[in-house]
Amino acid sequence: MMDKIAIEKKVLSENDKLAGSLRERLTAHRILCLNLVSSPGSGKTSLLEKTIAALNSEFRIALIAGDVQTENDARRLKRAGGKVVFPIVTGGRCHLDARMVTSITDQLSLDDLDILLVENVGNLVCPSSYDLGEDMKVVLISTTEGDDKPLKYPGMFLRSSVMVINKIDLLGSSDFDMATVKQNARSINGQLIMFELSCRTGAGLAPWNQWLGEQAKRKRSR
Ligand code: MG
Ligand code: ZN
Repeated sequence: MMDKIAIEKKVLSENDKLAGSLRERLTAHRILCLNLVSSPGSGKTSLLEKTIAALNSEFRIALIAGDVQTENDARRLKRAGGKVVFPIVTGGRCHLDARMVTSITDQLSLDDLDILLVENVGNLVCPSSYDLGEDMKVVLISTTEGDDKPLKYPGMFLRSSVMVINKIDLLGSSDFDMATVKQNARSINGQLIMFELSCRTGAGLAPWNQWLGEQAKRKRSR
């Protein structure tokens, strides 16, 4: 009988294979794919709502919203103007995997798509180990969390390309320190691109939307 570690390794290598072929397929269709990860409550769905609203007219966007139990987030994203929103209810599982995402992309007309946004399950641990075929992982953290999150979950910050700091409108109402969180994140990953914003007030959203649009254009012209 295989031991637990051997089984985990096998699952991950099968996931990597699936993710690799998914990435090839998305790249062949010049689709930018982002995998959005965070703790529960950091504002992934809120950020996606704002992002869709800003980029919907220029890009064809599909969303995959992973949730452990409900389709509430997917419904919110549909209301925000997401034309193609696919819920994945993981039924208790704490991460999305490449098989789940592939089962959705198989239903999509990839020629009619520019951007695929994947909202992962709120969890900073195992989603870092599961490649979903994305171009980049975007890790979201909010000012209501500890500014030591990057040090507590180094794997996630190491494997992410972008860190978005949300809820800057609440700065000063807790011990969260902007300089400290950035320093902590840089000590784990010196390449991280960083954005500070508030989905509630809209502050800082423009640079994020602009950056995302540029990434999509870059991928489209490849
Ligand atoms: Mg959500
Ligand atoms: Zn998990």
